[in-house]
Amino acid sequence: MAEEFPFEISPMYEGERVRKGDMYVELGGSTKDGFELVQVVDDPNEVEDGKVTIIGPDILDMKEGEAYPYGMIYKVAGEKLEKDLEAVLERRHHEFQPYMQGYMHLNQRYDIWVRISKDMIKNGLKSFEQIAKATMMLYKNELPFIEKMEAIYITDEEKVKEELAKAMEIYRARDERARAMHDEDADVFYGCTLCQAFAPTSVCVVTPDRTSLCGAMTWFDCRAAAKVDPEGPNFPIEKGECLDELKGEYTGVNEKAVELSGGEYDRIMLYTFMEYPHTSCGCFEVIGFYMPEVQAIGWVDRNFPAATPNGLPFSSMAGQAGGGKQTLGFLGIGIQYFFSPKFLQGEGGWTTTAWMPKALKDRVLEAIPEDMRDKIATEEDVTDITQLMEFMKKVNHPMVAKWAAEEEEEVEEAAEAAAPEAAAMPQMPMMQPGMMPQMQLPAFAPSGGAAGGIKLVLKNANIKVEKIILKKKE
Ligand code: SF4
Repeated sequence: MAEEFPFEISPMYEGERVRKGDMYVELGGSTKDGFELVQVVDDPNEVEDGKVTIIGPDILDMKEGEAYPYGMIYKVAGEKLEKDLEAVLERRHHEFQPYMQGYMHLNQRYDIWVRISKDMIKNGLKSFEQIAKATMMLYKNELPFIEKMEAIYITDEEKVKEELAKAMEIYRARDERARAMHDEDADVFYGCTLCQAFAPTSVCVVTPDRTSLCGAMTWFDCRAAAKVDPEGPNFPIEKGECLDELKGEYTGVNEKAVELSGGEYDRIMLYTFMEYPHTSCGCFEVIGFYMPEVQAIGWVDRNFPAATPNGLPFSSMAGQAGGGKQTLGFLGIGIQYFFSPKFLQGEGGWTTTAWMPKALKDRVLEAIPEDMRDKIATEEDVTDITQLMEFMKKVNHPMVAKWAAEEEEEVEEAAEAAAPEAAAMPQMPMMQPGMMPQMQLPAFAPSGGAAGGIKLVLKNANIKVEKIILKKKE
């Protein structure tokens, strides 16, 4: 199969990482522009089957260890091909390119990150032409309805910029079309397991109101893929019975979760952050993180390199939340989900968001309700949790009311606990078996009587103490 190429080609290499020390060059990624685009051409005469055009420096013209811009455009033609399939074919790129041993392909659309290993060069890789030809061979073997295919690979900085701008318009048009449809209008949702090579228990559930976390597959794209390639990674999911409309729980989705995660989890709630969240494979465009100190959520995209207010950058949190797990407190999403009317509706939608990088906030500004726009901080307003807390108080963020309500509750609990036993006795309810009291210890005043000190709040605790001795510090 792969005799004409100086590298092995096999699904067993899917998921292989090329570490920095082993890399010959990096393409796209966080420092350079990069994109991939598939275009269906109606007139087959406009596609020269097997042709490869390279614009810019080829592989051997590149300096070892450096990063370069990278654009990959494919023109395809075939009787059964329709425009609707462009996104579907484009996403399969993430499946096929990693089949090449020593070639790492991550992410999608305008976020692609590729590394070519030193071993590939050692074994005889000389040109992008070999990469493009191997990729096209895989496409045509796996998807025989592609009758003609040609590739244009671009590494020239200016040309990548120019073509990326055109590609962004195409991605935008696809997303806008998807926004017009809603979950109530669909009888079935779609699943995607393309990323199980990287995250074996991850199951993406793509609905009209919840586009994929990689941002590359809308409900329409998954529907087209399932139709044209029923043996492929996309498949319909019967909604079944709706168990919770607000949080988005469906029996059909739960059944698929059990089946496709190998029993790793059995519930998925589509519109929540804190309860049975959707899994995150690692391709997500944005990661959400809960900040318990302010009881609110922050979002960060992979283009923001600095630390967020919780002290962690995107890469650390992605490592924690990726891999196909359900991780409470973290959630990977696609940028289009911000525009969904069901965006975190289980938790109150945008009212729980407190921080985003400026560039991301600007990008999704239209999706943020007007009364929340000034209440979401960016790196220009705050850099840590303490500052974020002050910011939220200053702008009267909706979560601040919750802090106040909880503080009041705690004060009441403290007052109850501190009240003389005799006075409290008449109101005491009968303790039922299995019922645990909530204990709240009063604040300890430091020696000298100054305000402050520490306060311990123990809730639902079952502690037996025979004796407590408190001594004043000498
Ligand atoms: S992130 Fe999800 S929807 Fe996107 S390709 Fe991977 S499995 Fe499919």
